[in-house]
Amino acid sequence: MTENILTSSPFSIEERKKIFDQNYSDIKRRVEAAALKSGRTFKDINILAATKTIDVQVINYAINSGIMLIGENRVQEFLSKEDSLETNAERHFIGHLQSNKAKDIVGKVSLIHSVHSVKLAKVISDISLKKGIVTEILLEVNIGNEDSKSGFSKYEVVNAVTEISKLEGVFVKGLMAIPPICENSEKNRPYFKEMCNLFLDIRGKKIDNSSMDILSMGMSDDFDVAIEEGANMVRIGTSLFGKRFYNI
Ligand SMILES: *Cc1c(COP(=O)(O)O)cnc(C)c1O
Repeated sequence: MTENILTSSPFSIEERKKIFDQNYSDIKRRVEAAALKSGRTFKDINILAATKTIDVQVINYAINSGIMLIGENRVQEFLSKEDSLETNAERHFIGHLQSNKAKDIVGKVSLIHSVHSVKLAKVISDISLKKGIVTEILLEVNIGNEDSKSGFSKYEVVNAVTEISKLEGVFVKGLMAIPPICENSEKNRPYFKEMCNLFLDIRGKKIDNSSMDILSMGMSDDFDVAIEEGANMVRIGTSLFGKRFYNI
């Protein structure tokens, strides 16, 4: 059963839908403006709605309003929602994934953004092979070199792509990063730039069984800057749905 996770929100479902509507049109304008600044168009950027803590009724409203990608952070929360979700949006996993939970989501999401170790990639690959599928993944890069974050260091990532791309049950589609939290999104610009350079370098190497197609970076506070610096997938929660009220 899906619990009603909005009990502590002061807003009704109907109000949350209105909040989404207002925010979504604003986000689309900003995404387009940032895309144009980097020589691309709106269509080149994939907007993923980060849906942790958001009630399925609101998520489904977002999907019916045009959101084509949704991302969940926690395995349990994803499992509690998946049966009620509209089927016409792709489901991604964007949160920290422990190896022992991988079996619960492999085959149920079309992309795992947050592969932070070779060990986790091996686990995902083995489970995928048992299920007769190949799981598409992104490698998470700890671009700010923070102790609090997992992911490959910028120095490790080329070797990691090379090694992980040899695993038959996974296909590396690109890179993901969460730069340090800061008050001013401009401070993250160098990190986004560095990520994009890394992404393009690796793309240039044309490593077998991998493709550098997706650069997933930028969240509510900094997605404009991330797009300006080359992101083609942004993960937006608060700026789409409003403040989160329940910490699952
Ligand atoms: C929650 C979350 C987001 C979205 O964060 P907002 O600041 O609310 O936009 C993006 N990526 C990941 C991995 C998240 O956990």
